Amino acid sequence: MNTNDTTGTDCASWCTNEDARGRTDHTCIGDNSECIELTAALDYLTLDENGVESSFCFVTPVQEADRRPGVSMTWEVGHHPEFRPRLTPEEARRIAAELVATADLVEGRR
Ligand SMILES: [Zn+2]
Repeated sequence: MNTNDTTGTDCASWCTNEDARGRTDHTCIGDNSECIELTAALDYLTLDENGVESSFCFVTPVQEADRRPGVSMTWEVGHHPEFRPRLTPEEARRIAAELVATADLVEGRR
């Protein structure tokens, strides 16, 4: 943990957010994962007038003061509103395992 010299407030070791660091309203935020392009989602979308839609996902570590750390996922599919579910680390691991299992299933690896 990084400790702020002024307030003694702990900051997560992975935090890269300098905004309000050391204050009680500081939110620890780490670096985003690589952006993963979501091509399958485009099969279900109508292209805009420019014929362009982009869909992507990335993952971010986050922890507000006095809350447990979480895994934030950002989903943006075309021009639809951003969806940003917050997961506990265990929920993130379970979803990751289910994604791998289902990917293996549809590719006939199971
Ligand atoms: Zn922090």
